[in-house]
Amino acid sequence: MTWWTRLLDFISPRLCVVCGKRLAPSERSVCSACLLHFPRTTFQFTPEDNPMAQLFWHLAPIERAAAYVYYEPHSEMAQIIYQLKYGQRPDIGEDMGRLMAVEMGYARYFEGIDALLPVPLSSKRLRQRGYNQSEQLAHGIHEITGLPIITKALKRKHFIQSQTKLSRHERQENVADMFLIKDATNLRNKHVLLIDDICTTGSTLLACADAIKHIEGIRISILTYGFTKS
Ligand SMILES: [Zn+2]
Repeated sequence: MTWWTRLLDFISPRLCVVCGKRLAPSERSVCSACLLHFPRTTFQFTPEDNPMAQLFWHLAPIERAAAYVYYEPHSEMAQIIYQLKYGQRPDIGEDMGRLMAVEMGYARYFEGIDALLPVPLSSKRLRQRGYNQSEQLAHGIHEITGLPIITKALKRKHFIQSQTKLSRHERQENVADMFLIKDATNLRNKHVLLIDDICTTGSTLLACADAIKHIEGIRISILTYGFTKS
């Protein structure tokens, strides 16, 4: 903590995204009390068989799947994702990425992984938001693990219709061909870790895996910040 950040904190106190209380100088995005009570999934300890991994069984060759916390759309915790996506707070993504990486690291979740592949946004959405929240998570994970981030390999098409109002089947139809490979160079013979903010039905991650699974020698694992219990 430098004198400059202390001064900024004094002028404009930083608040916990979850409970709204003032953060200590060493705390980032969330206070330590809220952090302690995060609804952790612990999926990383059984990466081949957990409720998230099961979503992809028989559908895609996913080796490991884990999410950091359970995500309920209207809980206090949901503020983290809401602010990250709609509150112009890209820093929250980096902070959550660092926390995830440290805790996943205890379970050796990154062992054998070659690169991080954040799920891309469509170029229209990226222009609107100014940053990709999944890439922000990847930046935080990179800081802890040193794993490189691949950002130019995939392109995502823009869909007008909102995904949230569709049934599971309709969503899967809607996301088929959602991703196109732009440049497979950095994906060949790599074990990539797909990074996304939330996994609900798994359809976005499935579409992403579908797009890359035929690349020579590729192996695919998944890590998200949140997992929504259905
Ligand atoms: Zn708090």
